[in-house]
This record gives sequence, C-alpha cells and structure tokens, in this order.
Amino acid sequence: MKNDQIVKLKSLLKTKRNIVITTHRSPDGDAIGSSLALYNYLIMKGHFVNVITPNDYPLFLHWLKGDEKVIQFENDNKIAKSLTDNAEIIFCLDFNNLSRLDSYGHCLSQSKSIKVLIDHHEDPANFDIMFSNSSVSSTAELIFKLIDKLGDLDCINTDIAECLYVGIMTDTGNFRFPSVTFQTHEIVSFLLKKNVDHSKAYDLIYDNNSENRLKLLGYCLNKKIEVLSNYKAAIITLTNDELDKFHYQKGDTEGIVNYALSLKGIFVAALFIEYNGIVKISFRSKGDIFVNDLAKKYFNGGGHINAAGGICKNIEDGVKIFKNVVKNYV
Ligand code: 5GP
Ligand code: MN
Repeated sequence: MKNDQIVKLKSLLKTKRNIVITTHRSPDGDAIGSSLALYNYLIMKGHFVNVITPNDYPLFLHWLKGDEKVIQFENDNKIAKSLTDNAEIIFCLDFNNLSRLDSYGHCLSQSKSIKVLIDHHEDPANFDIMFSNSSVSSTAELIFKLIDKLGDLDCINTDIAECLYVGIMTDTGNFRFPSVTFQTHEIVSFLLKKNVDHSKAYDLIYDNNSENRLKLLGYCLNKKIEVLSNYKAAIITLTNDELDKFHYQKGDTEGIVNYALSLKGIFVAALFIEYNGIVKISFRSKGDIFVNDLAKKYFNGGGHINAAGGICKNIEDGVKIFKNVVKNYV
C-alpha cells in the first residue's frame, strides 16, 4: 500500500463524510464481505455511509452485519442515484473497471465524488486514490491492511472481523489458492482472536444448499461434463431450460466449475451458463495457465490468472471458440 495514497485518504477521512461503498455486479463473498467490513468500520468512525450493489447476490451471503442496509441499484434506482450524486467519497471494491458495474457504472461516473479503488485484479483503470495489488488473496485482506495503516486495528470488532473472514475464506477457496500467504493466515489469526465463529461462517456459506441446487450439481457431474483430454481441459454447459428444470436461484451454479477442475490431469475448466439471453462463462485453471488473458481476448471479460469470467452470445459458438483457443494456453 503506497504511503501517499494512505496519507491522502487519512486526511479526507478526518472530517465526517458522505460515503458510498460499491462493488461489482453479481457480488460474491469477497465483494460483500469487504464492502460490509468497510461499511461497519466507517460508520463506527462517524461517517454517513451507504453500500450500493449493482444487483442482488446469493441468499447464502445475506447475513453479515449491515446486510439489511445494502441498496441494490437494480431495485432502488432513484435512491441509489441520489446517494451516488451526493456522495463525497465513493469506495470501489473488488473490481478494476466501471464496466463491471453494468448500468450503475454510468451513474457512478457522473458523480463528482472522489473515487477510491480497493482491489486485487490486474490492470486497474484510473481512480483518484488507489489501493490495488493483484498479488493479494482478496479485497478483504486489503481492507484489513488499510484499516491497519489508518491506525485503527482496535476498531475491528467481531462483526467487522466476520465480514473480513468471509471475504478471505471465499476468495481463497477456503485458504487453498496460491494467493494465500503466511500474512493471510496472520490476518485470519487476528480475526479469530476477535471471536469470529469460523465454523458458523462455513456452515452459512457452504452448507446452506437447497435440494434443487444439489440436484443441479449432480446433473452437471453426471450428464454435463465434457473432458477434452488432449487439451487437459473440461467444460460444462447449462442452458436456460436446464436451469429452469432445477428452479435456478442466484448462486446455485457457484462452485460447479471447480468440480471440472478437480479431475485428475485437468488444468483448465470452463462453465458456460445461458441465462436471460446471454451466456456467462466462468474459467478456472491451475499453475501458469492465464485464463484471465483468454477471457479478455476472446470473451470480453477478465479476472485473475486462475479464475476469470467473460460472456458470449450463445453456448455453441462460445464452446467452439474455447476449443479452438485453449490449446494456446495449456
Ligand atoms: P466467476 O467465475 O466466479 O463469476 O468470476 C471469477 C472471477 O473472474 C471474478 O472474481 C472476476 O475477477 C472475474 N470476472 C468474472 N466475470 C467477469 C467479467 O465479465 N469481466 C471481467 N473483467 N472479469 C470478470
Ligand atoms: Mn475478490
């Protein structure tokens, strides 16, 4: 974290401010965990704070402290716009470009506020103040480091610690990804000392499946995995009709792509999901297979080296492109 950026932010936060915190569309555990950690910290410091997400997120994330205060731009357009217009500072968490906010991005770009980026994706766009480090496991880890640099570790209570723990746990695949360092574990140790119930957090996030979600996973594993052994790759596709059959709810497909990657000898996996007229793709890989580059070049997306996403018009064409280009990466 660069000292000049800390100094700038510190001096801004000396006065009570009107603040908005936002994160990427279809927020994940890190997006919500880091947003609510920062939210709870800033209200403790006496600021006026609102969290605005572009859209909704899975039910298994709707329990952290402050969750009921989150405003969704998709549902509360007018309120969100007025808060955004009136904000003095907007914290942008867990994304590197306004395009990741969908239509809320336009609204945000019109606000005259000071925009602060806190993120761990490569190639960030320009923001007024930036805390960007792509080698850090999660945005939640960055929020911890920021609170530390602001001299406020004492402010981290159980609620804030729980939000940070969920962000780190989910973005590290339960502390197993290469991005995890001894520092990550030192931070987690600090959080556990603040009485985070890590077992409860795990249960609420991972052992909270509906019957339909589990059956959808079973269907994917039994019927839908295509292994491309020549390319050390595996793909899974899901159409709108298939999702309907399992009464798809937001979040139901999260994690499915990792099962394809868990196959012996498979180093890259892709999940294509057709939903509401667009195909969303999740890429995962092991080692130095840069799926963020693949996502950026061919699927109008991006992300991390080993976890990225993108979009395409239809499953058939997307799979064709993937099969054509994956050999260049493996
Ligand atoms: P997921 O597969 O879980 O949706 O996304 C994995 C990662 O890929 C996310 O953490 C995010 O960094 C990135 N990602 C997903 N979708 C997109 C996208 O449409 N554009 C960009 N630039 N990155 C994405
Ligand atoms: Mn993240």
